[in-house]
Amino acid sequence: MKIDLHTHSYYSDGVLSPTELVQRAVLNNVDILALTDHDTLMGIDEAILAAESHPIRIIPGIEVSCLWREQTIHMIGLNIDPNYEPLREKLEGVLRDRQHRAEQIAKKLIKFGIPGVEEGLARQVKGVPGRLHFARYLASKGYSSTPGKAFKQYMARGKPGYLKSEWMSLAEATRLIRDAGGLPIIAHPRRYDLTLKKTTTMLEEFKAEGGEGIEVATTNQNKSDQIMMSRLANQLDLAMSIGSDFHEPCAYNELGKASFLIPMEGKFIADRL
Ligand code: AMP
Ligand code: MN
Ligand code: MN
Ligand code: MN
Repeated sequence: MKIDLHTHSYYSDGVLSPTELVQRAVLNNVDILALTDHDTLMGIDEAILAAESHPIRIIPGIEVSCLWREQTIHMIGLNIDPNYEPLREKLEGVLRDRQHRAEQIAKKLIKFGIPGVEEGLARQVKGVPGRLHFARYLASKGYSSTPGKAFKQYMARGKPGYLKSEWMSLAEATRLIRDAGGLPIIAHPRRYDLTLKKTTTMLEEFKAEGGEGIEVATTNQNKSDQIMMSRLANQLDLAMSIGSDFHEPCAYNELGKASFLIPMEGKFIADRL
């Protein structure tokens, strides 16, 4: 079974439509695909529709931006009810906040001497605006050679396009996903600016709030990261998840290609879907 439980469409900062995403997943022989756009459910109906004539199962999902002690954490919610009204209402507010943040970031970059930012963003954004849209625009105009480099040079903390964000708390995100019938999972646990000790504390609190899993297999986690995170999962009685965090066709990330790099013992989120 090929499983990918963390992917993006152009309704957040991916580049494919949900239909194109599903088609690509089918070509890659993915059996179970979760669409988990940042802070939005906009693509889910389309993904389910696109999968109707294919041998693939779509899991309605989301990647919620939240805060734990000043640190931004990304929380995957799987098998959420996309019609759960309190979640939809909350996400409307997050969309407005993100739109406001994007306007402020555009102003900062314009002030920094970069023209055309607002138009560059408007051309790309179909749903939720994010920093990667700015990075892609900057790269397209030659300010950096790749969006990844533009992100580091302009959009990372302390850089000219950075703005502190006020996301909901980790506790609130966990509760919201649970209340929507979903499984809360901490995305890419090795990507945060947290020591292993702080990561453990964060995961303990997450578990106490009703957290269910952590991503062990994801594109940027190597074998030793996976070993470390699987140990932590077992220690805290959390299930292990797998997801590529696919945003766009590129050399280093592909739909369905995240995998456990060693045989894993323990609980798997995929068994609970
Ligand atoms: P935002 O939610 O708007 O703050 O943007 C966060 C998103 O930016 C993440 O979901 C990634 O897709 C992207 N991102 C974060 N760090 C990098 C990086 N170093 N290079 C490219 N994209 C990044
Ligand atoms: Mn992203
Ligand atoms: Mn993320
Ligand atoms: Mn993601």
